[in-house]
Formats: sequence, structure tokens, C-alpha cells
Amino acid sequence: MVERTGSDAAAVAVVGAGIVGLASAVFLQRGGARVTVFDALPPGGGASFGNAGLLSVESCVPIALPGMLRQVPGWLSDPLGPLAVDPRYVVKALPWLLAWVRAGRMEKVLTASAALRALHSPGLEQYRALLGPAHFHDLIRTSGQVHVWEGETVSHEERISRELLERHGVVSEALGPHELRQLIPEISPAVSRAAFLPKNGHTVNPRRLVETLAALLSEAGGALRHERVMKLLPQADADLRVVTNSGDHRFAKLVVAGGAWSKQLLAPLGVRLPLETERGYHAVVRNPSFELRIPVLHKTRAFAATPMEGGLRFAGTVEIAGLERPMNEKRAEAVLRQGRALFPSLRGEEVSIWMGYRPSLPDSVPVIDEVAAHPGLFIACGHGHTGMTAGAATGRLVSELVLGRPPVIDPAPYRLARFH
Ligand SMILES: Cc1cc2nc3c(=O)[nH]c(=O)nc-3n(C[C@H](O)[C@H](O)[C@H](O)COP(=O)(O)OP(=O)(O)OC[C@H]3O[C@@H](n4cnc5c(N)ncnc54)[C@H](O)[C@@H]3O)c2cc1C
Repeated sequence: MVERTGSDAAAVAVVGAGIVGLASAVFLQRGGARVTVFDALPPGGGASFGNAGLLSVESCVPIALPGMLRQVPGWLSDPLGPLAVDPRYVVKALPWLLAWVRAGRMEKVLTASAALRALHSPGLEQYRALLGPAHFHDLIRTSGQVHVWEGETVSHEERISRELLERHGVVSEALGPHELRQLIPEISPAVSRAAFLPKNGHTVNPRRLVETLAALLSEAGGALRHERVMKLLPQADADLRVVTNSGDHRFAKLVVAGGAWSKQLLAPLGVRLPLETERGYHAVVRNPSFELRIPVLHKTRAFAATPMEGGLRFAGTVEIAGLERPMNEKRAEAVLRQGRALFPSLRGEEVSIWMGYRPSLPDSVPVIDEVAAHPGLFIACGHGHTGMTAGAATGRLVSELVLGRPPVIDPAPYRLARFH
């Protein structure tokens, strides 16, 4: 029997209880919608669980950059390096990899960079609005980030990144060796250059942040259903039918915020989304022997070290291997080795590891849009490496699009049509 969870105009379903889905759900609810969130996992059980927690509101550099292709063979030659492509998955990933290479052309990079800047820069302000002052203070730190490099040579990629940051007026202060070691005495002597980005922040616990949103939603009367959505069926009367493993519901409007799994939910509706997962890993050292006061992003080795409630978290690496292949714990161990090399005096033996699925589009820019062929069906996914950063601002934009209110940020750069 079809359960009419609510086919009135105010009933909105959100598929996915990650940062994007729940931020959207809470903003939708505040705007007057009756919201039901579907997820088979507990809130924050996807990519939003184990990320590095960096709220990099100043970041506006897409992953694909001109000249990147030259670096790929070097990366691939090291199976535990910053990028790995599973040989058994290459054929499947090829269209995405080619689109990624094309996205690295300078004119496309400039467009993507402007889109990321617009979505990321209001990030902290939107988290403040979303969480309220007490939860914001509890979960988020606004003490900046330190970016570090090894070697004196400025790479081609670094030069382009710098140009993009300058173009968007990003504040970055160079740190001399003395200043760096005053701030982080434990840092390795291998680090030769550093910059402080004062406007960036981090969360001390990404999972708890998402759980807090789930609690805010429930307290205000929203529903969280632990159901896996099997299929979305648009109906002749314009309702959207949501068939799950244990129910059949109807809604006037629906937001797909299913992270890396969004593509398979949307494909039967004729929506072609060039979404691939960039799998990433973390290792957390519990009870570390020193307290890192500020997150460090190691730009040369492409990983982050973030002080979190559960310990010191090292996170990074990109593995292109799809949604089915088992995790490769050696990649988490490699991230840990990099972390220990960055802080040679680090002690703390108890370590937990994790693998998660970044939902990535080739140009690093998410899709936040209504599907033209199915009015009432919205997409919010593809945030890749910066979904925590963009979560709150995305939720705000989603709520404005769904509720038909004037959007605070221009939605044009996030349209699905850019891929077709
Ligand atoms: C190692 C690593 C480090 C990272 N570091 C950072 C960082 O420092 N800063 C940053 O900004 N970002 C970071 N990210 C990226 C960030 O974690 C993601 O972009 C973000 O979490 C994506 O959020 P999401 O809500 O779209 O997806 P998810 O959190 O994956 O949520 C999607 C949810 O949809 C649910 N779902 C999917 N299909 C269905 C279905 N059919 N039925 C019901 N439910 C469904 C899933 O169960 C899941 O819970 C990192 C990612 C990784 C892997």
C-alpha cells in the first residue's frame, strides 16, 4: 500500500542523511516544509563521517588543473601514493577520468574556481545560521589552517593555485620557519614552507555535527526514516513516489542528496550525472602525545592533520575504485605513515582507520539544481573534496530552490545542464 507520507505541497523528501541532505532538510524545515529524510545508515554514516573536517571556506581551487596530467604517471607509479586507480576499474572510470582531464583546461578552471568561491566563502556564516550559536561554538573552530610544503621549488600546480587564490582575494599569510615552529613545535624539519589561512576553520567532529542537525530536525517535528530508497517513480499527478526497502511513499518534492550513490538513484529517471567516487582514507591516533592546536594541510603530500575530539586525524588520498571493491587498509596505513613523518615525535599507539566515498564531479563543482524533465525533483550532490565546507551553504541554496525563494547565491554555476 502506498503510504501518503504527505503529498501536500509542503511535504519534501530528502534522500541522504549526510551533511548535504541534513543541512538541506533543516533549512527546508525552517522555511516551512514538512521534511522526511531517508537513509539506511545512521546520520553522518557516509562520507560525512570520517572526513578531515576542514571547513576551507577560502578554498577555490578545483582538483583538475592545467598540467596535472604530467604528474599522473608519477602518482600512479606509487600504489600507495596520493592517487591510485584500481586496474580492474579503469575501463569503468575512463569517461570520468577523461572528463576530469578536460576540466583541467584553464578556461574551465576559472569558471569552476568562481563557482567554488561563491559556494565556499559563506560557509562559516551559514553553519552559524544552521546550528545556532551554542552548537556552532561546540562543534566548529574558526582558528584558521596552516598549509605546508616540502622543498623550495614552487610547482606549476602550486603557481596556478596561488593565482586563483589571489584572483579571489584570499587572505594567506606566509609563515617563516621560526613562526611555524612557534605555532607547531612538533612539525618535521622536512617542511620548508608554510602559510596561515586565518579565515578557514574546522569541525572537531564531523559525525557529531551531522547528528546534531538530525536532532534539530527531529526536535522540530521532521522525520528520519531508516530506509534504503530502491527507486524513485515520478507519477502522472506530478507526485514523486519513493519506494524503499520497507515502504512506498509520495511527496510533492524530493531532494536527492545521496552522495556518491546519487548517480544510481537518478540513472533510471534518465538523469545522466558524471559522478564518480574518489575514495579517501583516514587514520586517527587516539590520545596523541601532543595537542595540535590548528589543522595542517600538507600540500606536497596531499593529506590533512586535524585535531579532533577522538584524537589526531590524518585524512587524504584518492583511490578510483568504485563503490563495490573492498577498502585497501594499506592506504590508511600509508596516510598514517605520512602523518607520523610530519610529526616525528608523535606517540599514541591506538589507531582507528576508515574509508569513505567522496562524491566527485569532474570539475569539482557540485550539482544543485532541479531536474528539468521532472519538476519537483532536485539534486544536491557531487561536492567531492569539500562537502563539509560547502554543506551549510548548499543546504541554504537547496531550500531556496525547492521553496521557490530568491536564492542568496546565484544557482547558475551548479546547474546540471553544464555537462550536456
Ligand atoms: C578522506 C576524506 C577526507 C575529506 N576531507 C574533507 C574536508 O576536510 N573538508 C571538506 O569540506 N570535505 C572533506 N571531504 C569530503 C566530504 O566528506 C564529502 O564531500 C561530503 O561528506 C559529502 O556529503 P554528502 O552528504 O553529499 O554525502 P554522504 O555523507 O556520503 O551522504 C550521503 C548519504 O546518502 C545515503 N544514501 C545514498 N543512497 C541512498 C539510498 N538509495 N537510500 C537511502 N539513503 C541513501 C548514504 O547512506 C549516505 O548516508 C573528505 C572526504 C573524504 C573521503
